[in-house]
Amino acid sequence: MDRARLTLLNRKEKDGFLHMEARLHGGGGKPLSLRHRIPLSLKDQVTDWADPFVIGMIFPAMQIGKPVLVEGPVSPSLLFNLEEFMTMWAVWKPDRYRAVDITAEVEKEPPGQPEKGLAVMAFSGGIDSCFTAWRHRKGLAGRRTRNLLSAVFVHGFDVPLSRKTTYDNLEKRNRLLLSSIGMDLIPLRTNYREMLVGWGDSYAAALLSALALFQKKFDTALLGSSKPYSVMDPNAVWGSNPTSDPLLSSDSFRVLYDGGQFSRLEKLAVVARWPEALRFLHVCWENNRTEVNCCRCEKCIRTILSLRLLGLDQPPCFPETLGEEDIRSLKPHGEVAHRTLASLVREAEKRGLSGEIWVQVLKEMTGRKSWTRRFEDSARKTFFQREFPGSLLRSILYRIRSVRKQGN
Ligand SMILES: [Zn+2]
Repeated sequence: MDRARLTLLNRKEKDGFLHMEARLHGGGGKPLSLRHRIPLSLKDQVTDWADPFVIGMIFPAMQIGKPVLVEGPVSPSLLFNLEEFMTMWAVWKPDRYRAVDITAEVEKEPPGQPEKGLAVMAFSGGIDSCFTAWRHRKGLAGRRTRNLLSAVFVHGFDVPLSRKTTYDNLEKRNRLLLSSIGMDLIPLRTNYREMLVGWGDSYAAALLSALALFQKKFDTALLGSSKPYSVMDPNAVWGSNPTSDPLLSSDSFRVLYDGGQFSRLEKLAVVARWPEALRFLHVCWENNRTEVNCCRCEKCIRTILSLRLLGLDQPPCFPETLGEEDIRSLKPHGEVAHRTLASLVREAEKRGLSGEIWVQVLKEMTGRKSWTRRFEDSARKTFFQREFPGSLLRSILYRIRSVRKQGN
């Protein structure tokens, strides 16, 4: 039978780093290579199982749509969960993904960790990850509080591989931030995004592929929630979500979606109690040339305004003052950004701030349709008499944008 194969290449130790690579081939086009690199000193924490690479290749495998044979050991409990994971994504996005049959040469659970209950998280330095780090280190998550020791900061996700200085500078800041609450930073370099798999859908799998490497030491991964349960819209599924994320777990390595009951504003109110976070918080990925928040992009402006909403002064991590004109010149990308700004207006009105100039400016802006929606509407009217599927149009727009981003 025609099937693809996932092969683990021999690990290499070079210049103080451990290089790991897996190749997905037989899918028709060129073989896909997924490479992770970590400091050699962490070698003993890394699993011998193929699980992290099966997770990392799950979206490409669903795009290829052929059965996959993994040459190496895989946890049957992971395969059990991934089967449901793929079914979900195939229902959500049938034009992009198919659930495929995955088998491994050896299907067997890995030996357990020497110490139970140790957790690792993904860390970007933004609100979601600061919130999760702080909450668990301060024991604020009730029974769900984990013994969170390390955070993986990935070079090749938010910071492109070409921006080495930015990554190095952010790594220093994040290390300071994490050490202030007794956590270690694990630097990891990956080419995941260069495989050009749709990032919006696959980023939780990409993060887990990185975190699951360390399962010889840790049995739990925490993924900071990217959206609260209260605004979960089944028509706008996002790569990381409480429904499909936990299905990236196996019996020996559990994934928890953390903090879904908190809005971004509530998270910011908690993070604002952390003095180092007010110095080093990093939310800006638009202007990713430096480690400093640009104070002009949608995410920077949204965070500064959220702090105003909480009655807080602009902290040192946002060095530029924000004027009315800067808010006015903002161009939110897509429906989601547009809706987020509109919710900021509603929250401000609820708190009796409707008289503030910035609230009025924002309200005026969010009254207009976003450019993606306008483009979609007019394309539909002009060419397709309203029969062209919006999802296809959105995926074309997505493609254009991701190629543009890659070119940055
Ligand atoms: Zn910015």
